[in-house]
Amino acid sequence: MSPIDMLVNSTIRPDVRAVASYHVADASGFIKLDAMENPYHLPHHLRQVLAQRLADVALNRYPVASYASIKQRINDKLGVPAGYDVILGNGSDELISILCMACAMQDRRAVVVAPTPSFVMYQRSAQFAGMDYVGVPLKADMTLDLPAMLVAIAEHKPALVFLSYPNNPTGNLFAEADIVAIIKALDGFGLAIVDEAYEPFAQQTFMQRLPEFHNLVVMRTVSKLGLAGIRLGYMSAAPQLLAELDKVRPPYNINVLTQVAAEFALDHVEVLNQQAAALRAARADLTAALARMPGVEVFPSAANFILIRVPNSDDVHAKLLSHKVLIKNVSKMHSVLANCLRITVSTPEENSAFLDAFAASLAA
Ligand SMILES: *Cc1c(COP(=O)(O)O)cnc(C)c1O
Repeated sequence: MSPIDMLVNSTIRPDVRAVASYHVADASGFIKLDAMENPYHLPHHLRQVLAQRLADVALNRYPVASYASIKQRINDKLGVPAGYDVILGNGSDELISILCMACAMQDRRAVVVAPTPSFVMYQRSAQFAGMDYVGVPLKADMTLDLPAMLVAIAEHKPALVFLSYPNNPTGNLFAEADIVAIIKALDGFGLAIVDEAYEPFAQQTFMQRLPEFHNLVVMRTVSKLGLAGIRLGYMSAAPQLLAELDKVRPPYNINVLTQVAAEFALDHVEVLNQQAAALRAARADLTAALARMPGVEVFPSAANFILIRVPNSDDVHAKLLSHKVLIKNVSKMHSVLANCLRITVSTPEENSAFLDAFAASLAA
């Protein structure tokens, strides 16, 4: 063994060495429908103003550690209930990892429970924090298996239960009553994290219900709304809980450029909301068009992506790549997703280019 291999083996944890790194496909030259990005830019005139604001930022200074001005805008504009605050993350990915770090115990293995398939970072963050992860399979129609969730909660007494609402990669909203049952079952020992990354497209939220449940955490991100590049997530919960979680957060985790860009975008949030409305309309059109195609099963979506099942997902995915269209092949993620593909909803032009390539890929 070479000296560097020996060094890696003696320093890096075996479970870290064993995992594959998070794969991101190279999308240059492709119609990119794999990552739930908003295809629209800010209008030109707004970008000019933003450029000036960014040019004026004091890059030599650390961010103002309270992040008061950006939090104020989030609290005012994004429906955080009175008396509640948020903590900010470098994307909600960082918030997931903060939750896990804060709840991983030193004297015993704390547990994370989540339905599966769901967002992969729940499992990854749990593992890296040294927690056990228990995935509870969804039913064949992608709905939540509430009895199985309640059994897992009773058996493992998880510190954290992550519920993606709507769920990625299936696109559906779990029943509100099921989520409430889970929050109540966790009362006294565990937190329910409702991950509302797709709230602009679902228009369903637990944010207003925070005062009802002291073990509820509502997490969101501006990524899917149209600001994936700036990396900003936020979460709200009971103030005492937030204060503890905030101790784990790196003090300057939101950089000054992100802060200024986010404040600017929230001052013009109606622009982003209009884009989300256009994408909801495009989702309806794309869903209808896909449902008309023979051999294609379309799952209902409350997000900005659509899950479908085709006769041969690997074949269709490869043929779409040859048409320079990149979608996500989720068929190997979980047995319930056999032959499933996930398509991000885009502009009418990109959606119709996708549909043409898809029809050709199915037929060939
Ligand atoms: C995309 C996504 C996130 C990650 O959001 P970032 O803020 O970009 O890190 C979190 N949760 C779910 C369910 C997602 O699909």
